[in-house]
Amino acid sequence: MSGRSPASIRDDVARLVGADRVVDDPTRIARARRDSWVIAVWRSLQATPPPPPACVVRPRSTAEVSAILRYASRERVAVVPFGAGSGVCGGIDPDATSIVVDLGEMRALRAIDGHNLLATAEAGLLGSEFEAALNDAGYSMGHFPQSIALSSVGGWVATRSAGQFSTKYGNIEQMFVAFEAVLPSGEIIRTRAVPRASTGPDLRHLFLGGEGTTGILTEVTFEIHPRPAATERQAIAFPTMRDGLETLRRIVRAGWRPAVLRLYDEIEAGRAFAGAIGASESLLLVLCEGPTALVAAERAAVEATCAEAGGRLVGSGPVESWLHHRNTVPGFEVFLRQGMIVDTIEVATTWDKIDRLYAGVLTAMRAVPGLIVASGHSSHTYPTGTNIYFTFAAKPDDSADIEALYFRIWAAAMEATLAAGGTISHHHGIGRVRREWLPRELGAAYGTLVALQRALDPAGIMNPGALLRPR
Ligand SMILES: Cc1cc2nc3c(=O)[nH]c(=O)nc-3n(C[C@H](O)[C@H](O)[C@H](O)COP(=O)(O)OP(=O)(O)OC[C@H]3O[C@@H](n4cnc5c(N)ncnc54)[C@H](O)[C@@H]3O)c2cc1C
Repeated sequence: MSGRSPASIRDDVARLVGADRVVDDPTRIARARRDSWVIAVWRSLQATPPPPPACVVRPRSTAEVSAILRYASRERVAVVPFGAGSGVCGGIDPDATSIVVDLGEMRALRAIDGHNLLATAEAGLLGSEFEAALNDAGYSMGHFPQSIALSSVGGWVATRSAGQFSTKYGNIEQMFVAFEAVLPSGEIIRTRAVPRASTGPDLRHLFLGGEGTTGILTEVTFEIHPRPAATERQAIAFPTMRDGLETLRRIVRAGWRPAVLRLYDEIEAGRAFAGAIGASESLLLVLCEGPTALVAAERAAVEATCAEAGGRLVGSGPVESWLHHRNTVPGFEVFLRQGMIVDTIEVATTWDKIDRLYAGVLTAMRAVPGLIVASGHSSHTYPTGTNIYFTFAAKPDDSADIEALYFRIWAAAMEATLAAGGTISHHHGIGRVRREWLPRELGAAYGTLVALQRALDPAGIMNPGALLRPR
């Protein structure tokens, strides 16, 4: 890139937006130089962790973001946007001459428009703060990623996030109505908050899943919902995961949209809900919410569909328990310090291929020596198919081999997913961990994606190495 020294880049940025915007605290700098990818955490624990970026800057306005990007484009300095750092794919990995733009000071809630069911916030607002403000006003966004308290509203868009209530409310792309963003050149663009438009290609998609490679989102407008009048919960045990998957298909095919449909395989059900089910049963959690009459009808229909497929009602207890613990965040570090690595891999495919994908990925991961356990659940269901969210734990004989083992397991899972006709990521995104498989999934369209990114960012400054192969 520019060949400029980290110190001179830091000085330039301080001159541009004020020295008080540039972070001094080494702990804060260390936190902003990575996301929550387990390999980034592992590397940060090593005796020689990766070097800090040239600077971490916390702008307070879109104009300041624009000034930073204008400078970076002109001087060809890499820029890495940082929302709240909860990404799990290695989307944030600046080198020693990069500027990290931390959106943490841009967290104003701009407006809650209850009449039009719209809410607007600055991109750095934490998800939990946004939802709490909506709740106080009698609304909800309906978007509940497990990381709601750890992630920013801009980060949700940049990673194409999915929440736990997605079957009813949709994923972030269904909720994302309008935005303000700064292009790599420093130009500021805005779109209108309208219910729908037929005004050419939809520019929201440049930023949905852009992972910071297309510019920096500074403000987002989302659709919101009045808080539901009624809620019903039920858990259903199935003899096998296969029976459960087929039941999911029938429920959504019939037109029902429970907010939550989570189906755990026997390993995960046994681990989290052992008291509620028999040995080797799968468990489906259902939560319906909305208008009272609709919820009553939906619950009855879902229960009948489950019974037809051999499901056994086990009451609301497991759903209550899940609701209580659903945002408890497992710490990677504890395992890493014991020489063990734990991670999750979420993929998706259509109904005709789902059994093959579920079995194929588990078989492939289990064939890697060093794998201790692998399991899966489905958490996001559509009329056309569903996702599987795999969890694995592995331990090499020598902890120096942790990364090699980790990447062997990921390669096994990615290859098996592609072989089963699935998508390599349902909602965590690409970052660095999946980057090498993206061209395989997209085929010739990968070149289109690269061309679009280059057209927006001719200087190649935006988050180099994330999402796309480095230039
Ligand atoms: C315990 C845990 C549970 C999780 N559960 C879920 C879940 O249920 N559903 C889900 O979808 N994800 C989940 N995630 C993943 C993560 O929370 C999401 O990817 C989230 O959307 C990231 O938001 P963030 O603000 O933390 O982004 P960051 O990690 O800060 O950034 C993610 C990427 O987006 C870019 N970026 C961030 N902000 C901007 C911006 N304003 N403009 C342009 N680019 C930007 C960054 O450069 C980076 O490439 C989970 C993560 C953890 C650690």
